[in-house]
Amino acid sequence: MPIKSLIRTVPHYPKQGVMFRDITTLLKDPVGLRVTVNELVHRYTPVKIDRVAGIEARGFIIGAALAYQLGVGFVPIRKQGKLPAETVGHDYDLEYGTDRIEMHVDSVAAGEQVLLVDDLIATGGTAEAACNLIESMGGGIVECCFVIDLPDLGGRRRLENRGQKVFALCEFE
Ligand code: 5GP
Repeated sequence: MPIKSLIRTVPHYPKQGVMFRDITTLLKDPVGLRVTVNELVHRYTPVKIDRVAGIEARGFIIGAALAYQLGVGFVPIRKQGKLPAETVGHDYDLEYGTDRIEMHVDSVAAGEQVLLVDDLIATGGTAEAACNLIESMGGGIVECCFVIDLPDLGGRRRLENRGQKVFALCEFE
């Protein structure tokens, strides 16, 4: 079942020249959603995982379904100011300016093994910041997993260069 064929490309979103890979068309397809989650469940069932951490916002959708099926908890990684209790944060550079992601201080305990999930890896800046944040809490990162990798943007290499394992269900050039 071709996951890739269910992903819609929206030209010039959110700005001119960007080809946005839109997973809402995959998520709305009952077989597409099931196959996407099941492929990840199959991959991670044999692995020791304490928590799934999903990156706002589309990482929540895949990450929560995966955590449910694996029988582990889900924790959100959110943009600054969205989480209600005490947080830890990590700043990271964007093309122009900086951004900040946060987690609740009690979402990962030292020594826990965390699976990081997002819908897409492009430059890897967001995922790298998430890895830094999880590690600053004493967590280990089992693997960084994505529905889509854009290999031309170098994110996989960036994460692998810092020692991370990376997995993606499909690639777009
Ligand atoms: P990166 O930090 O790797 O450059 O960008 C990845 C982040 O931006 C992810 O959180 C991802 O959701 C979002 N993102 C960037 N480009 C796209 C895209 O074409 N499609 C989708 N679905 N998300 C994107």
